[in-house]
Amino acid sequence: MRIAPSPTGEPHVGTAYIALFNYLFAKKHGGEFILRIEDTDATRSTPEFEKKVLDALKWCGLKWSEGPDIGGPYGPYRQSDRKDIYKPYVEKIVANGHGFRCFCTPERLEEMREAQRAAGKPPKYDGLCLSLSAEEVTKRVEAGEPHVVRMKIPTEGSCRFHDGVYGEVEIPWDAVDMQVLLKADGMPTYHMANVVDDHLMKITHVARGEEWLASVPKHILIYEYLGLEPPKFMHLSLMRNADKSKLSKRKNPTSISYYTALGYLPEALMNFLGLFFIQIAEGEELLTMEELAEKFDPENLSKAGAIFDIQKLDWLNARWIREELTEEEFAARVFAWASENDRLKEGLKLSQSRIAKLGELPDLAAFLFKSDLGLQSAAFAGVKASPEDMLEILNTVQPHLEKILEWNKESIEAELRTVADATGKKLKAIVAPLFVAVSGSQRSLPLFDSMELLGRAVVRQRLKLASQ
Ligand code: ATP
Ligand code: GLU
Repeated sequence: MRIAPSPTGEPHVGTAYIALFNYLFAKKHGGEFILRIEDTDATRSTPEFEKKVLDALKWCGLKWSEGPDIGGPYGPYRQSDRKDIYKPYVEKIVANGHGFRCFCTPERLEEMREAQRAAGKPPKYDGLCLSLSAEEVTKRVEAGEPHVVRMKIPTEGSCRFHDGVYGEVEIPWDAVDMQVLLKADGMPTYHMANVVDDHLMKITHVARGEEWLASVPKHILIYEYLGLEPPKFMHLSLMRNADKSKLSKRKNPTSISYYTALGYLPEALMNFLGLFFIQIAEGEELLTMEELAEKFDPENLSKAGAIFDIQKLDWLNARWIREELTEEEFAARVFAWASENDRLKEGLKLSQSRIAKLGELPDLAAFLFKSDLGLQSAAFAGVKASPEDMLEILNTVQPHLEKILEWNKESIEAELRTVADATGKKLKAIVAPLFVAVSGSQRSLPLFDSMELLGRAVVRQRLKLASQ
């Protein structure tokens, strides 16, 4: 079993959920659980995010027996360090006539997709370069013309396969794109690297999010083209909100660090996520990792979606704090949480010049750690604007905050100045209602720093709540 995160953003609670499934599956069946970094998307992957993913999964209590940090028999475990391993596999696919070189420029591809979209068809490569003669391909390659390698897809019939969650699945080949396998810069795509690595790393079972189900035909075909046996697939239903919408970083706080900063215990978070994979009677919910592995039951997974019920997580967390920790352990946890908490550290720096006694600190900084500010309209009483004006400001600001590329205090301030200029208001007038909506009070830490510290997802949530 493996978890194969892409280090392209703040480690997601969904990654912990998929990792936990793989970890429990391996534990239950006496297998190995390994970690592989999938960083073929060089523009979005960073070493900082990779470190964060490893730290976050370690915080969760998940232990891998092979990975980029500890090595192992099938390393390296970072795809960017394996670039040369993939080439012979791609060459084999091309040599056997299962792949072809494609010279289409990004502009041509965009025009093609635009025309397909306009005709109400899903964008898909039209196969132009399939008809190039061998001589022409050689000539263009020798002339150094940039190109990618794509895989051929059967023109009729469908791909049938068994999925551990979905059962028998059938996807028509017509719905499958001629996937790029090797990019122009010589890096493989996710699909190519994923298949080669799962084979070389001796992965027998692939368990991942349901968003990858539609990619299985491509993967099965790559295995077939290479004469390899595919692993068994399990596509786990994604976590959803109570309204069935997907839990997504653009709508919810989804980073593991959000839960760490707020003081959730890793045991409680794992307990909560693990309950999606087992059947238990009411009253038996409090389970350690060992107990989760014993009761783990991948036969009964639901396709309906795992509802991320934050109240249940809170309830479990409270039970872990009250029932599972001794007084000494509890105190040790609190001190460890405080000393390792970046949000608290930054909050302290901002507080130093704003308090006269240490005891004032909890009041001033509490808003940094609340999942619900309990905001009442009275909190806005001192803001010099009518309720209608405040609402308009809050509504105008929200889409602007989504446009910010790098979420930090400078970019937040710059964007809010843009709002002020565009609306003919003073920055102060824009900031005043925002200050209350974000911090819950009119006396607090500096707004732009606080917004940076809280992160976009929390700010988004608070502004939405305040403008309801
Ligand atoms: P977006 O807001 O763009 O939809 P996202 O929340 O889906 O983003 P990604 O960065 O695309 O986040 O996903 C990171 C990892 O988390 C992926 O491995 C993905 O499978 C997993 N993941 C994302 N959302 C969920 C979810 N709702 N349930 C389970 N896993 C998820
Ligand atoms: N890198 C993919 C992700 O982060 C992994 C998909 C897979 O497990 O095959 O979602």
